[in-house]
Amino acid sequence: MYLTKLVYASRVSPGVTGPTVKEILAVSRRNNAQDGITGSLVFNSKYFLQCLEGPRDAVNRAYLRILKDERHHDPQILDCGELLSRNFGAWSMGYIGEGPLSRETILKYLPTDRFDPYLLTAAGAQAMLLELGQAAFALQGNT
Ligand code: FAD
Repeated sequence: MYLTKLVYASRVSPGVTGPTVKEILAVSRRNNAQDGITGSLVFNSKYFLQCLEGPRDAVNRAYLRILKDERHHDPQILDCGELLSRNFGAWSMGYIGEGPLSRETILKYLPTDRFDPYLLTAAGAQAMLLELGQAAFALQGNT
């Protein structure tokens, strides 16, 4: 089955805070490890930005489950396609919080200094996720 990536943005639903995101990550890591999915999840209290990479059928199944989840809304696919090699192979679902979301990094990829992932291009989303992933990895390690 082809290696595929899917990147989407969504809005955080009211009442969803850090502890809820911890629960989401725990379930995601369990499921993704079983399904051969890796990726990263950015959360900044307003928006999610997530990259899923893995076998095409598994990525589709995971995304269909994620779409039904009321803990976020307005999902919008930013990028989807075949992948030569994984970018987040060390993470069944890496977490990127506010820490690495510096003004400098946001301005590098977005037209404003606010983190609004709906304004990212496909290539910008990929590059930003990679940069944020490296910064988060440096801050927290392989968790
Ligand atoms: P279960 O074991 O049935 O449930 C796991 C736990 O999650 C339970 O405690 C349950 O109460 C809670 N839960 C499940 N669905 C909801 C819901 N809709 N609203 C509130 N609580 C709920 N899942 C993945 O497998 N991989 C991912 O990468 C992934 N990323 C996500 C990213 C975001 C932004 C969000 C919001 C969700 C993500 N999820 C992910 C979770 C996904 O939406 C499903 O909840 C999950 O896949 C269900 O897995 P399960 O059937 O094994 O869960």
